[in-house]
Amino acid sequence: MPLKTPEEYLESIKREINLFMFGEKISKFWEHPFYKIIEPSINTVKMIYECAQREEYKNIMTAKSHLTGEIVNRFTHIHQSIDDLLLKVEMQRLLGQKTACCFQRCVGFDAANALYSVTWEMDEKFGSSYHDTFKEYWKDVQRNDLFIAGSMTDSKGDRSKRPINQTDPDAFLHIVDENNKGIFVKGAKVHQTGFLNSHQAIVMPTLALRDGEEDYAVSFGIDTTAKGITMIYGRQTSDTRKLEEGKLDVGNFKYGGQEIFVIFDNVFIPNKQIFMKREIEFTGALVNRFAGYHRQSYACKTGVGDVLIGAAALAAKYNGVEKASHIRDKLVEMVQLNETLWSCALACSAKGFKREAGNYEMDMLLANVNKQNVTRFPYEIGRLAEDLAGGIICTMPSQQDLDNTEIGPIIKKYLSTCDDVPVNDRYKLLRFIENLSMGVASLSYKTESLHGAGSPQAQRIMISRQAKIDDKIDLAKAILDIPVQEL
Ligand SMILES: Cc1cc2nc3c(=O)[nH]c(=O)nc-3n(C[C@H](O)[C@H](O)[C@H](O)COP(=O)(O)OP(=O)(O)OC[C@H]3O[C@@H](n4cnc5c(N)ncnc54)[C@H](O)[C@@H]3O)c2cc1C
Repeated sequence: MPLKTPEEYLESIKREINLFMFGEKISKFWEHPFYKIIEPSINTVKMIYECAQREEYKNIMTAKSHLTGEIVNRFTHIHQSIDDLLLKVEMQRLLGQKTACCFQRCVGFDAANALYSVTWEMDEKFGSSYHDTFKEYWKDVQRNDLFIAGSMTDSKGDRSKRPINQTDPDAFLHIVDENNKGIFVKGAKVHQTGFLNSHQAIVMPTLALRDGEEDYAVSFGIDTTAKGITMIYGRQTSDTRKLEEGKLDVGNFKYGGQEIFVIFDNVFIPNKQIFMKREIEFTGALVNRFAGYHRQSYACKTGVGDVLIGAAALAAKYNGVEKASHIRDKLVEMVQLNETLWSCALACSAKGFKREAGNYEMDMLLANVNKQNVTRFPYEIGRLAEDLAGGIICTMPSQQDLDNTEIGPIIKKYLSTCDDVPVNDRYKLLRFIENLSMGVASLSYKTESLHGAGSPQAQRIMISRQAKIDDKIDLAKAILDIPVQEL
């Protein structure tokens, strides 16, 4: 059955893994007390499976696979039209609105769409069969509605050195051995979104590789429970609040993201899951296409922005100041920034094009402009939300104090604002804004916006490559009657 229910998804990820968390080795994570920290990230992914079941979201959340002919979750779809590219960003905004955090399934989705055309082009050049291998692998993903993580970022060691010049050769994941059945790889992939609760991961190189770096030019699909994989759970700001009694101090107590530090220690990859092996000249295309699709994916932040704007407006209402002109102006400013992000996400999708492989790709320049804006605007939207919420978001007493029979009623007395506002609701809302602007969720709204899909400079390099400055010089020359051949 191509569309899993949220419950089926949950059961399907209850597989023993090799996980470290707070210095403890954990195998059945769903039975461990730390599950309270992990659970919100799983709830978030469950929301994707739930929305795909709902009639009202069918058009956005599902698509007809060109590989199997079946209706599949859009997160496993290979874009077949401009409409698909537009529906992708619609889906991402919707899920941002539903969860107010990173819903984790975009990285593998973007990796698959990049690999689809790159494997096709490799086969054209080398007569290899990577494209068919990838299609067979992906059909299985679609038929089983699998959650695929996307693993690009290596630990990278000394950033000024190439992979082969690193003191530790494992600073970039690479092939260490092979036989006629497959290859063995070693290295680490860091900041891995949703790796713990995904079924499989697509691994790709971090950067375009050069002669001599062939062993680093490798891409494959791998079961996240495979032998040799160790996961270490990434700490998040105020994460242990989830272990406390009561959920009010958590902020977004339903949903969250998750990043894993993943070690690959001589992991075996069978041939039927290898999509690139030593083809250095195609690594640049794979990295750039994946990054382009992923920079389009930051449409998700507009959905989170919608929720934060709503929360800030509600905080102003709870304070009785919603009609003040500067409050309204600040809300307008937040909306304008958020919709500017949305405009770029739509534009890079609408200006997409068809690759020779038959799939559709976003406009590279506009996708990079989109992500460059995303590295900035959520910070400004967050600043305005903190302004409207008041300093109380970082000085408020704990829920334990609020629930204490002696001091609780006194806290409630002084936290009261307008007569019709229940103190508990105000408390909940302020913690939610704290969470989004400086707590666990600020990771996905701010730092992920900054570094996810590449740090800001990576987009500036791509913008400069796509900018066609010489053409613009010619435009100016033409108006000024300066001959075009002149320098
Ligand atoms: C929340 C979150 C989720 C993520 N999810 C995923 C995921 O699911 N999968 C995945 O593969 N990756 C993921 N990433 C990783 C993300 O792509 C990287 O963070 C990003 O590419 C930057 O790499 P880095 O963090 O190693 O930063 P660094 O490389 O340490 O960069 C830090 C600074 O140094 C600069 N710098 C780096 N190298 C050079 C150089 N050679 N010359 C000059 N300046 C340099 C950068 O521009 C930046 O300003 C995620 C990141 C975050 C924060």
